[in-house]
Amino acid sequence: MSAVIEPRVEYDVESIRRDFPILKRLARGKHLVYLDNAATTQKPRQVIDRIVRYYSEENSNVHRGVHYLSELATVEYENARGYVQRFINARDVKEIVFTRGTTESINLVAQTWGRKNVGAGDEILISAIEHHSNIVPWQMLCAEKNATLRIVPVADNGELLIDEYERMLNPRVKLVAVGHGSNALGTINPIKRMIAAAHANGSLVLIDGAQGVPHMRVDVQDHGSDFYAFSGHKVYGPTGVGVLYGREALLDAMPPWQGGGDMILSVSFEKTTYNALPYKFEAGTPNIAGVIGLAAALEYVSSIGLDAIAAYEHELLVYATNRLREIEGLRIIGTAREKAAVISFVLEGVHPHDIGTILDQEGIAVRTGHHCAQPVMLRYNIPATGRASFGLYNTKEEADVLVAGLRKVIEVFR
Ligand code: PMP
Repeated sequence: MSAVIEPRVEYDVESIRRDFPILKRLARGKHLVYLDNAATTQKPRQVIDRIVRYYSEENSNVHRGVHYLSELATVEYENARGYVQRFINARDVKEIVFTRGTTESINLVAQTWGRKNVGAGDEILISAIEHHSNIVPWQMLCAEKNATLRIVPVADNGELLIDEYERMLNPRVKLVAVGHGSNALGTINPIKRMIAAAHANGSLVLIDGAQGVPHMRVDVQDHGSDFYAFSGHKVYGPTGVGVLYGREALLDAMPPWQGGGDMILSVSFEKTTYNALPYKFEAGTPNIAGVIGLAAALEYVSSIGLDAIAAYEHELLVYATNRLREIEGLRIIGTAREKAAVISFVLEGVHPHDIGTILDQEGIAVRTGHHCAQPVMLRYNIPATGRASFGLYNTKEEADVLVAGLRKVIEVFR
């Protein structure tokens, strides 16, 4: 894998769209308008081709063989790790652990660091707008250890109450676990400030970056998180692969999680010694094609430029928000000042599932439901929302199609 590529000079969305074969297809006989990017993103030809090339020309198991293909696969796998390290500006490749995704990365920290370091009476702080995968692993840990899970409240506009958060920090707080961005509301949290406050309190911080990495430049040294988790499939890469970044000293002191091949140096029935970082946390044959495909995806977004993507998506967010506000009876849930291009909404008198079904007939893919964030729905006293989430290939015209589709929904229920 080459070094981090220089971004394209100009944001040419039509040329970007041509990189994504699926965007050409029809859905229910209509042009596909894919606005479910917070759930998963589509894959560019560059990623698809890289995976095909891996299986066509390079497939072998890693780390174990002396033969040509095994060496080749190992080099590509480890080069991918190097690419991820540079992409998020980690200090060392040892700090990059490959997992199945954000969910597994968070569970790994809860089950290893958490089990070792959290005890009775300790506190873990999460926020009111977390995805279930940044709630449940901590609930499980707290139940096991008699620790307390505390929830940073959220304002009506979807912003966390940061003053309240700072007041909640006390010597019992061992860990703060918050999302970089909310998949349900779009809120981008002020993680640098939150991390600094936690560190001043002596607490560690895990950032759920599932909705961070796809939308903005992430520099783990700059924002200072102790752990940062993200998924390949949300950043135009394959499913089944993700990353846990952890500071080396922390990962080093953590016990392994899953046992098996590759995570050991030697095994006997009397005593097993564990492998060095990061292999200590990568038991069994990894998702080699997935890891290589993930690096191709990160290379792809780098070639467009993370700042350019963030600026373009912000333009889409502003445009789509204004257009949606023209619709009478539509209420946007989540109007934080810092937002990713995720728009959750409810329509007076229409159940969100009906919105989704009718839009689907128009070829428009939006998500409806609780978005794996049921506490968020409870907080706003709604059963579910419709959610349009934009990616780097979406256009203003597609926002217009969404608005026209919603007008049809209103017609049906009039
Ligand atoms: N956190 C957030 C904010 C998410 O949006 C998601 C996926 N919707 C996850 C965690 C879980 O990611 P995965 O299912 O890829 O593990």
